[in-house]
Amino acid sequence: MIPHDKLFIPGPVEVSEATLAAFARPMIGHRSAAFKELYAGMQPRLQGLFGTQQPVFLSTSSAWGVMEAAIRNLVRRRLLCCMCGAFSDKWLDVARRCGKEAEPLQVEWGKPIDHREIDAQLATGKFDAITLIHNETSTGVMNPLGEICCVLAKYPDVALIVDAVSSFSAMPIPMDALGIDVLLTGSQKALALPPGFSLFSVSEKGFERAAEVSDRGFYFDFLEFRKQQAGDMTPTTPSVGHIHALEFKLEEIFAEGLTNRYGRHARTNALVHEWVRARGLEFFAAEGARSVTLSCVRNNRDLDVAKLVRDLREKHHLVIDGGYGKLKGLTFRLSNMGDETEETVAHLLTCLDDCLS
Ligand SMILES: *Cc1c(COP(=O)(O)O)cnc(C)c1O
Repeated sequence: MIPHDKLFIPGPVEVSEATLAAFARPMIGHRSAAFKELYAGMQPRLQGLFGTQQPVFLSTSSAWGVMEAAIRNLVRRRLLCCMCGAFSDKWLDVARRCGKEAEPLQVEWGKPIDHREIDAQLATGKFDAITLIHNETSTGVMNPLGEICCVLAKYPDVALIVDAVSSFSAMPIPMDALGIDVLLTGSQKALALPPGFSLFSVSEKGFERAAEVSDRGFYFDFLEFRKQQAGDMTPTTPSVGHIHALEFKLEEIFAEGLTNRYGRHARTNALVHEWVRARGLEFFAAEGARSVTLSCVRNNRDLDVAKLVRDLREKHHLVIDGGYGKLKGLTFRLSNMGDETEETVAHLLTCLDDCLS
């Protein structure tokens, strides 16, 4: 691979040479038999990853496109936005910009969403949809999806929209079993594909809801996706390079095996956790609510984070993140998502030690 600074930021993450080679395969027409075969051939593995019997759709947009689409397709009356960090907070603003009634369920950054608070809000009967970010990438918080889904099971009229952008494929997220109505992810985080593409699936309840909602537009209309997918196509010209790269990635994922893949993320994450503790550092995310794909390290040692980030890049050609938004300098984030192994993560930690010594 050409010399470059390797990304350990929590997205976009490092993309392997083999994935880039697949991304650069010759183009095919998106209405051709070759395309239909490619897309149809990927469906079973995509459904396996999503834990769903529903079709899995491919969107040529970054994840925010589908996050906005979920609101435009599913919110009839009023939306409850679970907010615990930069991405989940932003969703409220996006909903209002889409002209929807939306209310915040805000918790302090670093804390997870409490399922009892969701229960109390939904019990008011005001809401017909809810947004949740499973893994809040800005704070390193992983929300208790199972508990939250149990609460949602009590409210069949409420559609559950889940962003799994930075956790998808790093741990099981069985969409059908959990009763998720829209499950979405982006290409450039846990899947370690180039940025600018996303994947999502919609429950039957989600489609029924969409059919009742007007002003869905065209580009992100879920019913349009379903119609075209029935013929193994996307509504508009997709990024074919991403689809080639995704096909390659699926081969890799299933060759490794899902259990092994989940185990690898757990082990690389544990390595980072050990390092954080051994160096007298702390976590920004509350105990019991920490992500398995990234660590948001609290700068309790008053380190010069900007210098650390710079030194690591200049001396070792590794890139980490120096804190998101208002957490800049107060935290730094280390990603173990995608293709990283115990060996590559151990190397990152050795290089960090070198810069800190
Ligand atoms: C990165 C990220 C997004 C936004 O992805 P874009 O590709 O920039 O649209 C949304 N949600 C989460 C949890 C993320 O980590």
